[in-house]
This record gives sequence, structure tokens and C-alpha cells, in this order.
Amino acid sequence: MPGDLSDDQIRTLKKLLLTRQSELKKLDADGADWRSPVELDQQSVGRLSRMDAMQQQEMAQAEARRRVSDIARIEIALNRMGDDEYGWCAECGEPIAYKRLEIDPAAHLCIGCAP
Ligand SMILES: [Zn+2]
Repeated sequence: MPGDLSDDQIRTLKKLLLTRQSELKKLDADGADWRSPVELDQQSVGRLSRMDAMQQQEMAQAEARRRVSDIARIEIALNRMGDDEYGWCAECGEPIAYKRLEIDPAAHLCIGCAP
């Protein structure tokens, strides 16, 4: 039995996870260009715009890293769902409140154990 959650709640959370997963994967695909190194024609762009471009790339890379770790968290949550471990705190073994999972369906710790 997965935590304190009803089948309906599990279904809702699973949908949330899958929706987020596909959104993140789409964003990740859209942002793939940003992973290639900055290559600018030195003659046509000034030093400032090159710095701008590098700064933008750094921000985009930080976002991409966040996305990758979010995607991984969601995959872990979906696996836990398949193993009927979903909804239980990975630390203390107590059920995780549905309200908490609604906000972050990939949460694997209860409110008491979360950092
Ligand atoms: Zn806990």
C-alpha cells in the first residue's frame, strides 16, 4: 500500500510527475544548443556582447543542470511509485503528507526530515 494515499491521489500525483517530466524534457531539448561552447566571430561582435553571450550561456547551463536533476528526481519518484514505496519518507518511514506531494510530487522526505 503506497503511503497514506488513495488510488485517486496517486493517479493525480503520477499525472503531475509525468506532465512535469515531459515539460522538462521539452525544455531540455530546446535548450540543447546552449551546451555547445560560445563561438562568436571576434570581428563582428565586440568584447561586451561576447561577455553577455558567455554570461547568458552560464545561466542557461545552470538552468540545464537544474532541469537534469529535476528530471532525475521525477524518474526516481516514478520508480518508487512502481515499487509501492512512493509516499513514504525515505528517512523515517512515515507517510508524506499529500499536501506536500501536491506541491512537490517528487518529494521523498516528509516535512520533518526535509532539509
Ligand atoms: Zn521523515
